[in-house]
This record gives sequence, C-alpha cells and structure tokens, in this order.
Amino acid sequence: MTVVPAERIQALPPYLFVAIDRKKRAARAAGRDIIDFGIGDPDQPTHEYIIDRLRHAAAIPANHRYPHDQGSPAFRQAAAAFLDRRYGVSVNPEGEVLALIGTKEGLGHLALALVNPGETVLVPEPGYPVYRSGTIFAGGRPWTMRLDPRRDWQPDFDSIPADVARGARLMYLNYPNNPTGAVASRALLERAVEFAHRHEIVLAYDAAYNEMCFDAADAAPSILEIPGAKDVAIELHSLSKTFNMTGWRMGFAAGNADVLACLSRIKSNLDSGQFTAIQEAGIAALEGYARPEVAEARARYGMRARLLAAGLRELGFETPEPLATFYVWARVPAGYDSLSVVNKLLDEADVVCVPGTGFGAAGEGYVRFAVTVSIERTQAALARMRNLKW
Ligand code: PMP
Repeated sequence: MTVVPAERIQALPPYLFVAIDRKKRAARAAGRDIIDFGIGDPDQPTHEYIIDRLRHAAAIPANHRYPHDQGSPAFRQAAAAFLDRRYGVSVNPEGEVLALIGTKEGLGHLALALVNPGETVLVPEPGYPVYRSGTIFAGGRPWTMRLDPRRDWQPDFDSIPADVARGARLMYLNYPNNPTGAVASRALLERAVEFAHRHEIVLAYDAAYNEMCFDAADAAPSILEIPGAKDVAIELHSLSKTFNMTGWRMGFAAGNADVLACLSRIKSNLDSGQFTAIQEAGIAALEGYARPEVAEARARYGMRARLLAAGLRELGFETPEPLATFYVWARVPAGYDSLSVVNKLLDEADVVCVPGTGFGAAGEGYVRFAVTVSIERTQAALARMRNLKW
C-alpha cells in the first residue's frame, strides 16, 4: 500500500533542519568532532531540587491516575503565584490558567481551538515554526508579519492591510524572540494589545524565554501587565529553558478565560494532560524561581552568548550584543547566504548552526547559534572558524 500523507502535512513548509541533521550525523559517523550549536536544548541537567520533588511525587499512588483536565489545582495555583510574584499580574487559577505539555503543544493546539478553515492567522517571521504549522493544521491561512531588523525585529502593525486585520482570528507574537534574540519594549506590547482590541483578534503571546534575560532578570515584561490585555490575550510560559527542563514537557498558559476554555476543549479531546508528578515538580521549579542555581544557569548562557557574539563579530558577522534567549542571531558576511554559511561551517570547521531561512524566508542572510555548548567548546569552535578563508 502506498501511504499518502494528508494534504495538511503536504502543505507544511519544507523542514530545512532535516537535511542539516542528516549531514551532521554522517559527519559524526565518519569520526569527525562536531561542535553543535544547532538545537536550543540545554546541555545542563535539571536542577536537583526539581528532580527531588519528582522522586517524591512519583511514589504517590494518587499521582499515577489520569491527570486533572486543566492541570492540577496546585500547579495552577503555583503558576498564578509565580505570575503575581514575578510580574505583579493577577490571574485566577480557576479558568485563567491552563497547564500545558510544553508551550509547543499549546501554541499548536490553539489554532485548532480558534481558527476555521480559510481564516487568517498573523504569523511573525522570522519565527518559531509552530505558529505556521499549527495554522496550517487548522486549515487557516498564515499571513506573514515580517519582523524588521531596522525596527529591532518588531512588527509594524500599521503596515497590515485593513482587510487582513479585519479577517484575522489569531495573532502570534514572541519576545524575547526566537530566533533573533530581540526583547520587546512595553510600548510594543501596548501597541499589540491595542491592535488586537481594535480588530478583535486573539493574541497569543509566547513568553517561553521571558526568564532568559541576561542583564536584568526581569527585563522582559508580561503582556498581562498591559491594561486590557486579558480581554484579548493569553500568554504562554515554558519551564523548559528557565529550569533546564526541555524533556519534561511542562508549561502553562494564562490570561483570557474564554480562549483558555476553547484550548482546554481541544486538549481534553486529544491529550489528557501531563503526569501529575511532573506537575508537582513544576510547582517546585516555579517556587524556586529565585534560587541561585536558576540565576547561575541564566548567567552561564549569557556568558557563552557574549563570547560567541564577540568572536563572530571579529569574523565579519554582524550581531548585536545578546540580551536574552539562548540564541545568537548573526548576519552572514557579504557574499554569503544563510545556507552557504551553514554548509561552509559544517564542511570546513565541523561546526553546526542553523540557517535563518529555517524560520521563514525573512530569515535569509542570517544564521542562528544556540549557546548550549560549553565555553571551552565555544572557544574551540571560534578558533576553527578563524582558520577558514572567508
Ligand atoms: N516558543 C519558542 C519561541 C521556542 O523557541 C520554543 C522551543 N524551542 C517553544 C516555544 C517550545 O517550548 P516548550 O514546548 O519546550 O515549552
């Protein structure tokens, strides 16, 4: 039998990273020493205090049963308390908080919950690919909001045609931004909320990297701080990066209760929530937000990012001082495009980075490095790159 993928799968943009991954694996199999800045996955273990709580929670029989639909009341309470402590934002754990199996799940399912076939979704580009693929799975039409480097990678809401804005159901926005590392000003968030109000668009604010700011830990605002945001917006928080927990799959959404009720209906039909013991560990993580090991991890990523950015600058890559996330987003030297730099670094220096075009066409001319590599290995990678003829 020939298995034919559904049209929604065929409609997905090509997954550029697959080809690079194949090449990387072949190089490793051939015995080459690859330094991999490809995927944004922490190289450090989850903090011990979180693992301890899982050990304890995993042994409790009540936790072995199906989890609570919206997340355990205790987890939702902890998420609300975190938002209050960190941002001074008040949400009701009953209805205004929804546990997620990682923010990726929530972002993808959100389009299924809100978007009818043919309806428009505003998708920032360059951007995290799930906004587009989630839209396509729902039969929606992604409308690209280009992020402009001259505007510090912020969208220009005024340039969105009136008919597009009128027809849009949902808008995704993400700061601190993957892949560009840009941090949103409060003014941008105010404009986004005002735009969403004016055109009756649901705003999904992806705050997966809000706790990954290098200078001041509280540099990134919450969209829920903006007056009126709760009428139009939900915000998605991830435990993945802040606490080195990518594999645990834990996050939450907070904000507009009607939007969360729609998302919850999709989720309760497709997944049954995260293991309650992992939610328990998530409570420990959030309660420990101010612990020194969390700050140390953040500082470590910051140090690596600054080192890498400075080295790349010397090589002719244009890159601003890293402020947040764990990515360095670099403009390629003259005469190159995204893919040619990725291939050159892999073929000639055994260094892996990803092409900006993996985040949409607007990423052309850029490459992204994830600083999930030690200082020593980062220095080694820079030394190799210095030896190349550019
Ligand atoms: N949003 C952005 C912008 C991301 O870069 C990522 C992960 N790379 C996610 C969301 C998903 O994070 P998780 O599902 O692990 O919470």
